[in-house]
Amino acid sequence: MAKKMAKAGKKLEPVVITSRGIATTFWGVQWCENLESYSDYSNRLPRGRTYARNGSVIDLQISTGKVKALVQGSSLYKVEVTIASLAGASWSAFKKRCAGQISSLLDLLQGRLDKGVLQEITRRPEGLFPAPKEIKLSCSCPDGAYMCKHVAATLYGVGARLDGTPDLFFTLRGADMQELITAASSNAAGLAPAAGGLDAGDLSAIFGVEIESAAAPVSSRKLPARKAAAKKKVPAKKAAGSKTTAMVGAGTKRA
Ligand SMILES: [Zn+2]
Repeated sequence: MAKKMAKAGKKLEPVVITSRGIATTFWGVQWCENLESYSDYSNRLPRGRTYARNGSVIDLQISTGKVKALVQGSSLYKVEVTIASLAGASWSAFKKRCAGQISSLLDLLQGRLDKGVLQEITRRPEGLFPAPKEIKLSCSCPDGAYMCKHVAATLYGVGARLDGTPDLFFTLRGADMQELITAASSNAAGLAPAAGGLDAGDLSAIFGVEIESAAAPVSSRKLPARKAAAKKKVPAKKAAGSKTTAMVGAGTKRA
C-alpha cells in the first residue's frame, strides 16, 4: 500500500520506533505522559502501543492544530486529530511566567531548562500540553469506540515524531516558540540568569521517567547520560554506549 501511494506521488512519513520506549526525549516523553495522565485516555491508549511500535502508522503529518495519519489495520484507515491552539490568554500567561528563564531555542527543544520552567511546561492544565477537551479525534474505521487503536497509535506516533523534531510541538499547538526566547530577553533585566539546566538524573527524579541515554541524535545528551550513570539512576551498562541500547531496541521490536 505504501509503495502504491509513493508511486502516486504521495510522500509518506512513517512512524519508526527503534527505542525501547515510544519516545526518549523531553517533548516526546512528556507528550505521552500527558495523554496517559488523563483517565479518559489511559485505558484506551495501550491498544495503540503495539500498532505504533510495529510500523502500522505508515504516514504521520503534523501541521498547525492538526495531525493527519494513515494507519494500517485490517484495512488502511485515515486518522485526524485536531488540537486547539495555545494562542490567546493561556499562551500570554505562560510567557509571563517563564519570562527571562529560557535562554535559547536549543535548550528549549532539548528540554534543558530550569526546574521551574519544566514544571510550568508540564503543569496540567495550565502548561503547554493539551487536555482531552482540547483534542478532537476521528478515524475512518468502523469501530465506533471513542478512541480506536488507530487513533491511539497516532497519538503515540506524535510522541515518537517529537523525539526527532521537537519544534513540531509548537507548530501543532499554533505557538511561536521564538516568542518564549524574545519574551525572556525583553524581561531579563534584573532577573538572575537561568540555571544551567538539568541532567538526565534530575529529569528522572522530577518526572519519574527514565531518560534513555543512547540512540540519541543530539550529541549533548551524552554528558547527562554519563552523569546519570554516575548517580546510578541508569545502570552503567546501558549508559555505556549506543550499541547496547540499539540491541535492546532491536530485541523488543516486532518482526
Ligand atoms: Zn480507527
